[in-house]
Amino acid sequence: MPGSFGLVIKLLLSVMCVLALTGSVRPSNLQETLMRGDITMVSRNSPTTYYEDRSGVTGYEYELAKSFADYLGVELKVVLADSTADIFPMLDKGQAAFAAAGLTVTSERQRRAHFAPPYLTSSGQIIYRRGGLKPKAIADLSQGQLVVAAQSSHSQRLRALQANELPELTWSEGTDLEVSDLLQMVATGNIDFTVVDSNEFRMLQAYFPNLAIAFDITEKQNVAWAFEHSRDNSLHLAAEEFFNLPQTQAKLLRLSERFYGHLDQLNYVGAKRFLRQTEKKLDRYKKEFIEAGEQHQFDWRLLAAMGYQESHWNPRAKSFTGVRGLMMLTRNTAKELGIENRLDPKQSIEGGSRYLAKLRKRLGSEVQEPDRTWMAMAAYNVGYGHLRDARKLTQKMGGDPNLWHDVMETLPLLSLKRYYRETTHGYARGQEPVDYVQNIRRYYDVLVWQDEQHPVFPQEEESLMVSSSAVTVIPPLL
Ligand code: GLU
Repeated sequence: MPGSFGLVIKLLLSVMCVLALTGSVRPSNLQETLMRGDITMVSRNSPTTYYEDRSGVTGYEYELAKSFADYLGVELKVVLADSTADIFPMLDKGQAAFAAAGLTVTSERQRRAHFAPPYLTSSGQIIYRRGGLKPKAIADLSQGQLVVAAQSSHSQRLRALQANELPELTWSEGTDLEVSDLLQMVATGNIDFTVVDSNEFRMLQAYFPNLAIAFDITEKQNVAWAFEHSRDNSLHLAAEEFFNLPQTQAKLLRLSERFYGHLDQLNYVGAKRFLRQTEKKLDRYKKEFIEAGEQHQFDWRLLAAMGYQESHWNPRAKSFTGVRGLMMLTRNTAKELGIENRLDPKQSIEGGSRYLAKLRKRLGSEVQEPDRTWMAMAAYNVGYGHLRDARKLTQKMGGDPNLWHDVMETLPLLSLKRYYRETTHGYARGQEPVDYVQNIRRYYDVLVWQDEQHPVFPQEEESLMVSSSAVTVIPPLL
């Protein structure tokens, strides 16, 4: 899609420029953007919007906005707001052309900004700490301390509830608190409840296993990009066109798989056990994972996540099929790799990583990262032959054999006769590699999160205390 739009518009532009130079027409915002060659978005730093990972900046909003910039044929620039409260003022001041920050479309905001077509829906959810106060209805919220992000859609919803149904409702608002700060405050017992978006909580829940959803305080609401409310709506119209493209709809599906597709894998028990094990065991093998990662070009945290999925980091693990060791190698694979002792954690980690690298290489560069790594992992689990069968089947069924999203859908079919009858390698328990990969991705997310200095059960931090000056208490209506 890069430049497809830009080219036509640039031709138009040259004409417009002449007119502009002669003083008869002022270029529109869109034309100015195209002439300048860049567009700025304002976002906030969160795993659902914009963040940095090992390969640079990413995030659902960022990737989507990058496609929009490509479509216009311009460069994407990003400015970050400290919190949700800063986003609309930044837009008003012209510091960005649009806001892509997981913004809920509310009627109050619609008076202030133009929203592009929605790309997601989410609801506002009351979050509480397991073992703490558990509210059953909105009226129970007064029993504890509720804090939400200032000027967020949640604060708007609480105001509406206070005005219409529950005049005694009280809560506090923090102006420089991000969603993860709020969750951390509930997790550590600084406050009792908060409200966050359902999609955001789904993403963050594994990092805070002691938090749970009490109930929703809104229906599903649209989430969309916001453009400044001016008479010149040329950029907004370009965004509308962009969202209506079939390529954009396909991109949205891919982004959903990439950022949300593996999230439901880790339940409460699984998340708690994983966190306990990282504290108890990971340090013992970290050095080996780092070395193997450097040697075979993998993020060590991905290998560690895989080791956990394979054996819960138990170097003496053994399955009934005779697969053994921390990375659960078969006797044949170990032999092929020249491994002498499968039970030696160092040999197992290095050998397993080398084998994974071999599978990744075998897949070839037509499968792009990160899908290539996910497929190599699926092959590690189910065997390369079955993966190849699943990719062929994917193609036959009209899917894209180079996308993990599509292959993941066909892998489970390998256990049904009417499908495996036609394949080279026959029957496979195809659901297993899917669960395997999705679990690893989830563990990996948690390891990255921990590694980037987000202690999961932190000591109380001054900056997160409710008494901080950044918090305003909303009193009951009189
Ligand atoms: N959806 C929220 C809003 O539109 C943003 C996230 C938050 O601050 O909780 O205000």
